Formats: sequence, C-alpha cells, structure tokens
Amino acid sequence: MAYSSEQPHNHQAEYRKLPAVDALLHEPAVAALVAAHGAAAVTEAVRAVLAAARQTISQGQPAPAPDQWPARIEAMLAEQATPSLRPVINATGVIIHTNLGRAPLSATAQKAMAAVAAGYSNLEYDLDAGQRGSRHDHARRLLCALTGAEDAMVVNNNAAAVYLALSARCQDREVLISRSQLVEIGGGFRIPDVLRQSGARLVEVGTTNRTHLRDFAQAVTPTTAALMRVHSSNFKQIGFVTMPSLDDLATLAHEQGLVLIDDLGSGTLLDTTLYGLAPEPMVQESLAAGADLVTFSGDKLLGGPQAGIIVGRQQLIQQLRLHPMARALRVDKLTLAALDATLRSYERGTAATEIPVWRMIAATAEELKARAQSWLEQLAAAGLTAQLWQGESAVGGGSLPGETLPTWLLAVPHAAPAAVAERLRHLHPPVVCRIQRDHLVFDPRTVEAEEDALLCTTLRMALTDKAAA
Ligand SMILES: *Cc1c(COP(=O)(O)O)cnc(C)c1O
Repeated sequence: MAYSSEQPHNHQAEYRKLPAVDALLHEPAVAALVAAHGAAAVTEAVRAVLAAARQTISQGQPAPAPDQWPARIEAMLAEQATPSLRPVINATGVIIHTNLGRAPLSATAQKAMAAVAAGYSNLEYDLDAGQRGSRHDHARRLLCALTGAEDAMVVNNNAAAVYLALSARCQDREVLISRSQLVEIGGGFRIPDVLRQSGARLVEVGTTNRTHLRDFAQAVTPTTAALMRVHSSNFKQIGFVTMPSLDDLATLAHEQGLVLIDDLGSGTLLDTTLYGLAPEPMVQESLAAGADLVTFSGDKLLGGPQAGIIVGRQQLIQQLRLHPMARALRVDKLTLAALDATLRSYERGTAATEIPVWRMIAATAEELKARAQSWLEQLAAAGLTAQLWQGESAVGGGSLPGETLPTWLLAVPHAAPAAVAERLRHLHPPVVCRIQRDHLVFDPRTVEAEEDALLCTTLRMALTDKAAA
C-alpha cells in the first residue's frame, strides 16, 4: 500500500509539538516532582516519556496534549522505581518453573542468607586456625553425609558443574556418551555444546533408541577419559529402548581405568515415588552404583538456591577444586548460606515440610480443593463467578517429564482471558496463571498459603476493572 504524501508531513507537525526536556522540567507540576524525587530521576523519566511519545507518533498517533505530561512523567517515575526483578505469584501449577526463578527458598534458607548478607562472614576464613580457609569447606560435610560421597564441591549451576568436570578430566580426550542422551535442556542449552566447550572430544555411541554396554566397550581407545550418562530431563523415551545400567557402566569404566560422570540434572535426595511420582534418579543411588562424579542442580528438586553440586571421589573433586576455571565458576556467600540451610532440612529429616518445592509436591488434592474453594467463595462474595475444575500440576524444571500431580483449579470464565491475564501480570505483585478453554485458571499448588489473601484481592481488582470487559 502506498503512503499518502501527507503522512510524513503530519508526523513532522506532531513531532514539533513535543516539548523540550528543559521546558518540561520547569513546568510547575513537574518541578514539584523534582523536589520530591530528585532531578536525575525526573530527567530520566521525562526523557523516557518523550521517547515513548516519539514512538507513538511514528505509529501515526498524535502528540500528547500539553496537560497530559505531568501525569505521564509521574507514572513513568513509579515504573522506574519498581525493581526489574521482583516477586510474582505463580498460579501456573508448575512447581520448578525456570522462567519464574525455579525453587522458592525455605524460611531457614532465607534467614541464613539475610544473616550472612548483613555483614562479614567466615567465607574464606578458618576460625579455628585464625587464617585463610576455603569457601569449599562450607557445604562439604553435609553433602557428603547426605549422599555418601567422599567429597563435594559447589559451583554456579549444574551447567558449570558439567563443564568443570569435563574440563578437568577430559580436555583433549574422549568422553563417550549415548546418542539418546545428547539433549537440549531448554533456553537453547545443549549438553553436546557444553561438552565441546570444555575441550573434551565427544564420541557418540549406540543409536537414538538403543545403546548397549558393548557400544561403550567397543568405543574405548587409549585416549578415552570418561564415560558419561546424562539424564533425559525433559523428554521420555518409550517402546523399543535400552540403556546399560549405571552399575554396568561403572564396572566397565573402572576395568578400563576411566571415570564415570553422571549428570543427573535435577537429581533428588528424597524418593519421588513416595509422592505418587515416577522415580527420579537419586544422588545417593548414583554414587552407590559406582559413578565417580555426580552433578546436579541446587534449585531443581533439591529446592535450594541456584547452584551446581558435584559429589564423588575425593581425588577427582580435589582436581576440580584446583582447576583454574573453579574460580570463575564459584558461588558467593549468599548461595552457600542458603544451600547450607536447605541441606540441614534434609539432615533433620524435615525437608518435606520445610522446603517449598517438597511441600508443594506433597500437597494433597483435598487440601488444594479446599483452598481453591475458598478462593472461589471470596470471588463470589465480590459478585464474580468461577468454577472448580479437576486438573493437573507439573513438577517442571527438567525433572519427571510427563508426570503430573492431581490438583483442583479455580477457573474464571472470561470473554477476553488474554487481556485479563496481561492485566494480572502488571499488578503488584504480578500474577501468572494459565488460560484454558476461555478460562483463566489458577492452581493453588504453587501459591503459598500466605499469599492466598493477596491473590484474591488482586484477582478481584483485575476482574472487576471495567476496562477488562
Ligand atoms: C537442568 C539440567 C542441566 C543444567 O542445570 P542448571 O542448574 O540449570 O545449570 C544440566 N543437565 C541436565 C540433565 C539438566 O536437567
């Protein structure tokens, strides 16, 4: 379609109506904002508001009327005062939601972080000896006690753990891995890419669906350093499939003088079958089967802070600790504090009640139904209609693919559910929900009970707003 020759002309006229930054700053209503918020913040807001106006003019809209500027600047100031990273209410029912920050921390982990954040700590100081200590000492005892490992270390995340293990053990040497396990985890993160970055030479063995022990055995050469197993975190193979057991891989590795590396992905210290779920590989079992280095995430089923945990044979872990990349991948004091408190819940045997991820997994359908029902009643009291649906929650986070937990959902019918969902995302705090069959759907499983009142108030606001209709 041809543009009318007047179009750019009109644009120019509208652009000319935009005031100068200085002129706006001297308007009495804006000057009052400067007094309250400071010149730097208001100037930034003025520039942002003018940029937004230029953007809308370029789309054919008129310039804002002169009396609109102070309100726009004030709204922009409020927006700029909101931290970019902030708490949200997760009503999606996906427990380990990577986009929503994965595992919420336990109360004791939050307290431990706050205590260490507020001042100095013995992060790298040996209080007994009165001299330099190692940050690696803090989580080691608990990790070894809980998993049966000889030694343990903590890095930034599990991707870093895999990278470090391979860099230290397999540089310029071969690592054998089944074709069925060359997985992409999410966000474009691919295990084979990390393998190559580490300097290891990747050798694929077996086929997509079936890999036998002899496939590994036949691929071993004098330059092979390790056998590796990668947990197929986010997909499931069914039908004519086979993989050698970890015990058999360990026996082969040790006969050949190789190391067996097991990337568990999520990993777990608690038995998921006790909660009606499929078995997720347990860290203890992997070590007992003979894996030499086992890596897993801190913020998946462990339910702690973002971290990568490496447990295994002492001599190997010592080598990882001394690797130059260990410093680049190390964790900070806040992570160590939260991890220590999380691990102590496991040591006390109170993980299932103290760690939010496990509390959410353990919540029964009846408990969730009662909460969804109370949400429904609070909406009804405000004249809003909703229904209770039977539904399913997911564990998420690259664990237990295809597994769901039975739940009850609050389902709110709406003519424009996407518009309401968008409004919910812009409230304080933002609420993230699902849309199913023209209903906004809220799963109590991932909403902490303390958030119930806040959620109901927020929902009433979003649903009664006239603009929603
Ligand atoms: C999630 C996952 C990773 C990456 O872990 P992060 O802690 O997110 O870095 C690596 N391997 C597997 C098998 C995973 O599931």
